[in-house]
Amino acid sequence: MHALLKDHSNLAFHALRSDPPPGPLENQQELVIVIVAGLDVFSSITNLSKTSPLCRGLQSPMRALWPHILKWAALLRPVQTRNVWRHRSLAGCGIISSILESYYMLMCDTTYAKPFLHINNTIVEHAFELWKLYPRYTTSPNSETLATANTSIWIVRILHRMLVQHGGGATAEDRALFIDKLAHVVGSKRALYDTIARQTDFLAEMGLQRTLHDAISTVWTDHYDLLITLVGIPRFARSKVPATTIASVVSAATKCLKRRETRYGAFPAVKLLNALCSMVKSNRSLVHAVDAGVFDLVRSLSEERESIEDPSISDFIRLLCAGLYHAQVIRAFVRRHRDSIPLSRTSKALGRATWRDVARLASEAGAMYASTLKGKAWQCQFDCSNTMGPHNRRVQICPCANAFYCSGSCQRMRRFTHLDSCCSDESPWGLHGIISLADALFICIAVWAYIDRNAAIIGRELSSLRLNQSSLRLNQSSPRIKQRRKCAQLVKQAVVRVDITDVLPDARHEVDTRTVYMPDAPPAGSIPVAVEVVLRAGKTSATRFLPFTYPRDYFKH
Ligand SMILES: [Zn+2]
Ligand SMILES: [Zn+2]
Repeated sequence: MHALLKDHSNLAFHALRSDPPPGPLENQQELVIVIVAGLDVFSSITNLSKTSPLCRGLQSPMRALWPHILKWAALLRPVQTRNVWRHRSLAGCGIISSILESYYMLMCDTTYAKPFLHINNTIVEHAFELWKLYPRYTTSPNSETLATANTSIWIVRILHRMLVQHGGGATAEDRALFIDKLAHVVGSKRALYDTIARQTDFLAEMGLQRTLHDAISTVWTDHYDLLITLVGIPRFARSKVPATTIASVVSAATKCLKRRETRYGAFPAVKLLNALCSMVKSNRSLVHAVDAGVFDLVRSLSEERESIEDPSISDFIRLLCAGLYHAQVIRAFVRRHRDSIPLSRTSKALGRATWRDVARLASEAGAMYASTLKGKAWQCQFDCSNTMGPHNRRVQICPCANAFYCSGSCQRMRRFTHLDSCCSDESPWGLHGIISLADALFICIAVWAYIDRNAAIIGRELSSLRLNQSSLRLNQSSPRIKQRRKCAQLVKQAVVRVDITDVLPDARHEVDTRTVYMPDAPPAGSIPVAVEVVLRAGKTSATRFLPFTYPRDYFKH
């Protein structure tokens, strides 16, 4: 074998080592075929040198070929310039799969590959390019195309493991190489999400071929695992994910479910959806997912036996259920499923979330939305924030979502005290547009309903707080408080904090006290109970006081 490798008359390796001829390679079909054969022999021998102890000695002559592999791959890889494919006519020779295979073999040799990549960083660029463009190389779905896609996914995963993951001993320089090259090849953050959509659509199309059913299952897992890794890199995080990306993933997963052999491909899809919906600032991604029909998807999946072992389905269902406390999400749900939400009031206690939880919450929230927000019935439900009457029956909400007014005069009377809490940018609860005014109102209504349901329990918890002796004893030594003492009252106010970040089986609450400054404080026993909400939209979590309070007596049932 050694003799064979050293023998320069060996056609394949001799051609690999030689310099490329001037002029276009399209006219050199024979040479191209020999080069491709050379790449294949390189891959086979490298593989052999790793698996068989007898061939270990071949590793170093193979490494000596790396620069030549790179030189030819750079010339032969398909490049799209001005919408024209260079060397497309050569694609039939299996160029792409041979290049990918030799890159794969090269990169598996991590110890030597890493320094090589730093010196010849174009290879990293090629790897990303071959991965990004795999849906474009061919229009005919066959096992070879699928294998090409799979290898290109694997190469990027190996690169990530070698250059980014902490376990792989990656340095800051390694990470920069990976991230800079990926950013360069992909173009923009948005383009990465377009690539996700294109690749997912392509694989879904391939999955329709009967002959590929078995092979595609593992490709789905690798595809989604890679994407979850890539969108998790802070440089590629977006505050919004395009609706087309989410629609592609939902639709591909739905196609997977149609056949027993491909069903497993739907599980990692939900994992990616979970990542896409949790990484953005708002509930916008969740709305896109609901619009694309994600409920039907989780409905099929949560009944599957695998979902017991796979926590990602249950996690996503929890996210979806918490989303149903937001007007945007429930509106999308009603829009998509109108009358077809299957009723399921008896959700079995399985210890994990299932579609039945979504169905129960969606029908409750849908009914609440229809009866309060749609007909503006909420306008009669809340009281004007101005303390002095008389008031009109109906109220409006301030754009900051921190106050209700029944009239312009009430708003003017209250303006002076409200200015402090009214957010200057007028976005609800100062969350910079992450939730809409309708969301804020719906949260108020849902929390109102929750407190109503749980009034007796909350009442018991409030009495254990011993608020009666709570008129705070002022600390005489504190000069700041001394100054205010003439007109000020520091009082202890009871607060019911309702957490709607996880609503299965229901939202949860805790009762607490806070010390507030009330210039015209009523006697301790009649200080109203304030309400606070802990909410989450995408990756944003926030705690806000709601613009209404309860008289202490409300809870004395
Ligand atoms: Zn009023
Ligand atoms: Zn306001």
